[in-house]
Amino acid sequence: MSLENFPTFPAARIGLEPPTVAIVGGGASGLLTAAQLLRHRAPVRIVLVEERPRLGRGVAYDTTCDAHLLNVPAAGMSAYPDDPGHFTHWARTRRPEAHAGSFLPRRLYGEYLEWCLDQEIGEPRRRTTFTAVRGRVTGVAPAPDGVRLDLADGGTVWADTVVLALGNSAAPAREPAAAEPGGAVRDAWQAGALENLPPGRPVALVGTGLTAVDVIVSLDEAGFGGKIHAVSRRGLLPRAHQPVPPAVALLLTGGPGQPTSAPTSLSDERDGAWPRTARALVATLRAEVDRAAAAGRDWRTVVDGLRPHTQALWASLPEPERARLHRHALRYWEVHRHRMAPEIAERVDALRRSGRVEIIAGRVVSITPGLDGGADLALRPRRRMTGSSPGPADVVIEAATVIRCTGPTERLASAGDPLLDGLFRRGDARPGPLGLGLDVDRDGRLVGEGGRPSDTLWAVGPLRRGALLETTSVPEIREQAAALARVLPDSVLAAQSGSTLEEAL
Ligand SMILES: Cc1cc2nc3c(=O)[nH]c(=O)nc-3n(C[C@H](O)[C@H](O)[C@H](O)COP(=O)(O)OP(=O)(O)OC[C@H]3O[C@@H](n4cnc5c(N)ncnc54)[C@H](O)[C@@H]3O)c2cc1C
Repeated sequence: MSLENFPTFPAARIGLEPPTVAIVGGGASGLLTAAQLLRHRAPVRIVLVEERPRLGRGVAYDTTCDAHLLNVPAAGMSAYPDDPGHFTHWARTRRPEAHAGSFLPRRLYGEYLEWCLDQEIGEPRRRTTFTAVRGRVTGVAPAPDGVRLDLADGGTVWADTVVLALGNSAAPAREPAAAEPGGAVRDAWQAGALENLPPGRPVALVGTGLTAVDVIVSLDEAGFGGKIHAVSRRGLLPRAHQPVPPAVALLLTGGPGQPTSAPTSLSDERDGAWPRTARALVATLRAEVDRAAAAGRDWRTVVDGLRPHTQALWASLPEPERARLHRHALRYWEVHRHRMAPEIAERVDALRRSGRVEIIAGRVVSITPGLDGGADLALRPRRRMTGSSPGPADVVIEAATVIRCTGPTERLASAGDPLLDGLFRRGDARPGPLGLGLDVDRDGRLVGEGGRPSDTLWAVGPLRRGALLETTSVPEIREQAAALARVLPDSVLAAQSGSTLEEAL
């Protein structure tokens, strides 16, 4: 559905009858939540507020570059956990050559999500209605007669319940924050970030994760001829997926209702509980990888096999051990877990071999104005950061442009988002464990200052990362959306009238 022709919302109050569920954010998380509420025929009025012109895109799928591929094979990207082939079947109607193991363009996936919602909206429903509103929500405030949502244009929406699906859109992580040359430093996700780069001059990327890979691919697609330096503390690039033959990809879906898992389930082989310290956990994982290798299996089967257990494992660790794991091991886990499509990995490898792309492990010390409107990025290479001697002087990359590819900040209290700041200030929300994301209960209700789960505020998707760790990809988000559609209608009806969904129907 296009929001191009929607008016921004007038300063009017949406009625409270039937109960209104407002969803803030129309990326994958918000859209899947709406689609599931429609599917479940929840007796609610859904109002979805999104500031982008199209639903279902969000940060990940709002790309026009066909070379930006999904980092999960099609078999793992169905919108619906109980119908694993849903995306693959749809994709075949657009690209007959697509199969369960294809790594398809992310642009196509945005179209698919939009189609899923359109399908649900098109179904005749007795009780569920859907309205999309284009705008940015700047405040969400629970009041005695509902929750008030303030929009940037001065409009107001009233709802009984609000689902926050803000995703990855909060401010990007920023480091260092010193005075920097304005136009020469850009954020990868900002509109036009890769336009008008001086031809032939080097660019420096801060970050070497999937966002940096996107930027490298985009620059290569655009015929950018300059050198690309990419810097991060550990200099770790995401690992590559192995090509997935269709038959194996079908196995990967795990059948109806199952999250994506590897053909060999780790838990099948493990007896006994998981260790409760970060160190022991890492050692166990290494031992599992060694065992897999000895049995002729790839390390990826171990990583993927752990996936269904990651959230429970994270929740079971004492907080200091979670902190240790997060500080020392998370980045290593992420590069093995969130992998590049094989085609993308080959492309990046070729660029590295040709010398056009250089990956550097080191700490960015400063970014200061350079020659001809450029920026000098000073860094301390990782190999010189430790050891007994202070090491030689910093390396300086004289870049025409520095592009931040550090992804979203995980620490929302410092993201500078007025909506979140208001929730924190009033105690309606608090940061999740380790200060990551928002604190939520097991169903996704926000937990506020007093430690009590909210009756009216919920979160879905990456906002739950403190509690769940693994909550940023579609295989997790679709489960959350389906679960929300099961519990939320009862909860909103009970809060409103003491009745339950069954009674209301
Ligand atoms: C570059 C990239 C590639 C990825 N590739 C994959 C992949 O291949 N497979 C996979 O499973 N996962 C992938 N992911 C993970 C991704 O997090 C999820 O797939 C999913 O897109 C998350 O959706 P979301 O709706 O939670 O967040 P987002 O995509 O960030 O969407 C949030 C939406 O909320 C809107 N919004 C935010 N604040 C407000 C506000 N105050 N008012 C109104 N609207 C607001 C934003 O405009 C945005 O549209 C990728 C992520 C990134 C960043």
